Amino acid sequence: MDAVLEIAGLQKTYRSRKGVRRALDGFDMVVEAGQVHGFLGPNGSGKTTTLRTLLGLIRPNGGRMSILGQEVPAHLPAVAGQVGAIVESPQFFGNFTARDTLSLLADAGGVRRERVDAVLELVGLRDRAKDRVRTYSLGMKQRLAVASALLKEPRLLILDEPANGLDPGGIREMRTLMRTLSESGMTVVLSSHILGEIQLICDSVTIIAAGRRVAAGSVADVLATHTSSSVKVRL
Ligand code: ATP
Repeated sequence: MDAVLEIAGLQKTYRSRKGVRRALDGFDMVVEAGQVHGFLGPNGSGKTTTLRTLLGLIRPNGGRMSILGQEVPAHLPAVAGQVGAIVESPQFFGNFTARDTLSLLADAGGVRRERVDAVLELVGLRDRAKDRVRTYSLGMKQRLAVASALLKEPRLLILDEPANGLDPGGIREMRTLMRTLSESGMTVVLSSHILGEIQLICDSVTIIAAGRRVAAGSVADVLATHTSSSVKVRL
């Protein structure tokens, strides 16, 4: 299988008045095409830093990254249209409907209006498309955020904690959505600090702790190998 995402030896050190903090310490990750890949690690382990670095929002201190075979950040513009991402909590105007929200984003991004209905269908919000976003549950808002990231028909979708705060029903809906996307050929990377979310939603997983990869593989294999190890204890 082809790797859609490859990260090798990624280094990131933050410098502030409080001193130097090493967020990534030679981090490695490989994600194969068509996978829903979980990126699991405790708070502060370096997940957001990794995802923001991949998107060119943070400059790393070392290491190599490639998306769809293109080195980033040097060739990020070449693949940018093929990557959809949510790395910040999306803010929506509560008085807008979901369709209006997506239509504005589509117009701003030069995306055909027909695509709006297609993504609303994909994320299961077609029936509620004319309702104002302020009437939406958290799970529906998260799926609207995913819909916005899908407008440009990306091949790789990067989601930072998309299941954060969702109840079990919301997590199951997120799983159904991720399955639908992967069956359509998309590759998804989603982060979480909750093992149960990754177990429910993902095929494969990379576990990060203190800025380093501590395990990777299929969810079943990784959990079988690390059931009672320090990895699980640290999570
Ligand atoms: P969470 O699940 O809490 O979002 P995370 O795994 O995404 O955590 P990061 O946000 O990448 O972790 O943080 C990794 C480390 O880098 C932490 O120790 C964090 O405090 C530190 N860090 C992150 N951003 C900055 C910053 N702008 N300046 C200084 N330190 C930072």
